Amino acid sequence: LFAGPIEFLKGVVAMDGLPPADRVEVCFAGRSNAGKSTLINALTGRKALARASNTPGRTQEINYFSAGDNLYLVDLPGYGYAEAPVNVVAKWQALLKSYLAGRQTLRRAFVLIDMRHGIKQVDEEILTLLDRSAVTFQVVLTKSDKVKAADRDRVLAQVRGALQKHPAAYPEIVVTSSEKGQGIAALRAIIATMA
Ligand code: GDP
Repeated sequence: LFAGPIEFLKGVVAMDGLPPADRVEVCFAGRSNAGKSTLINALTGRKALARASNTPGRTQEINYFSAGDNLYLVDLPGYGYAEAPVNVVAKWQALLKSYLAGRQTLRRAFVLIDMRHGIKQVDEEILTLLDRSAVTFQVVLTKSDKVKAADRDRVLAQVRGALQKHPAAYPEIVVTSSEKGQGIAALRAIIATMA
């Protein structure tokens, strides 16, 4: 799956800019600063494939990467910028809604959650949107190296509890650290089953 080259294909700002739905895709969502760019770079083994720092309020694009001929990796813009202008947020939400509800080839959304924080209200909004769009989503906890071993079970329990009320949730939670490499191979293997 990741043996072939992974290449940036395009940034999409409107539904009519989406590439042809001629292969399956998985998408990555997360609150800004959740570690999404770092994780995508770790997964693909490429540095700076996904931009590691996003500017709040800049044009929000859905970034498409091709992973071989069978799969697209789709990087959704981070959500939850406190300082993003209202019109930018509204435009982004409309695009996100259309994308999630209308993309037939979307197999799974990976929702990245900073393991130090667990699932917050701002995450709940996107999880609810995924439920309504009938897109199966899987939680990927990030930055596990920042959480003490003694605290990990508590966070996992909080996340499992929060997922109970989401019908679109895939039960298995993936714990990762891009820093230490934890969970990266496991996530890659999950993605490989989608293609
Ligand atoms: P994004 O906004 O979701 O794309 O988040 P970034 O990938 O830019 O990461 C946000 C910050 O968290 C950066 O300072 C990263 O270096 C840091 N970070 C990301 N992943 C990890 C991780 O696994 N461990 C640690 N310790 N820091 C991480």
